[in-house]
Amino acid sequence: MADEGYDMPKGDLMAGRKGVVMGVANKDSIAWGIACQLAAQGAEMAFTYQGEALERRVRPLAESIGVKTLIEADVTSDPAMDKAFAEVEAAFGKIDFLVHAIAYADKSQISGSFVENTTREGFMLAMNISAYSFVDVSRRAARIMNEGGSIICLTYLGSERTIPNYNMMGVAKAALEASTRYIARDLGPHKIRVNAVSAGPRRTLSLAGIQDGRKMIARGRSWSPLREDTSMEGIAGCALWLLSDLGRSTTGEVIHVDAGFHIVGLPVGLDEEG
Ligand code: NAP
Repeated sequence: MADEGYDMPKGDLMAGRKGVVMGVANKDSIAWGIACQLAAQGAEMAFTYQGEALERRVRPLAESIGVKTLIEADVTSDPAMDKAFAEVEAAFGKIDFLVHAIAYADKSQISGSFVENTTREGFMLAMNISAYSFVDVSRRAARIMNEGGSIICLTYLGSERTIPNYNMMGVAKAALEASTRYIARDLGPHKIRVNAVSAGPRRTLSLAGIQDGRKMIARGRSWSPLREDTSMEGIAGCALWLLSDLGRSTTGEVIHVDAGFHIVGLPVGLDEEG
């Protein structure tokens, strides 16, 4: 295990399972934590990445957990996605799981006033990369997925409640979660499950794009029932449950892994300063 890896619980829950993990950019990526957990449970994986520079960063991580297949995949390009999934099929034949941990919005769309700052182009771009891509990759994955397969995406509470600055990304996450339910309905008869993990904030490249992202983390720590940050182990554990047979009766769900932050209405006691 490289220094950047997580020492996740070992076992054989994913032994003999093959799949695709999309969205490892560096050692802080949520997809990386999930991949470490899946590898520790015996999964065989391909990583997708975007662009040559990223390949240089992702390859050493991938190799440290035995991932040999790296595939370039820009989710905004149909020809690129055709090629990427042809490569997945060539590498594995059939697959058993897919992790979608991809999102993007222009910086201008994730700060200040939502109603003033949201543009047509910004809206379409965030929806394309952060929501439509999940529909697209689910369709492609399902075509080569075994019965009993499982697909997950990553979402955030900003889809359900207003969170300062999350703005356009919240709208895209709402579309992502609704898409999760519709995809789950369509793929259920094929015995493929589809779920979303709603993670609490963590310091990643994506969060760095959101104005005051670090303050979101600090508030989560002080206002969540568990009074702690969302752990990578918790997110990866939930992903393992959903992607393995442990989650065999769960589909179309949005599962919160956020130290309980989402259940809080009034975050401070009535005698405390807000
Ligand atoms: P991250 O490490 O920056 O991962 C985001 C990934 O999306 C990167 O690998 C990025 O690649 C990829 N991506 C963006 N545009 C793409 C495109 N056109 N084609 C292919 N890939 C593209 O950040 P993260 O926080 O782990 O994000 C993973 C997922 O978790 C996202 O869906 C995010 O919204 C969600 N999430 C994050 C948090 C949090 O607090 N961090 C909380 C809840 C949910 P490039 O680097 O090349 O752009």
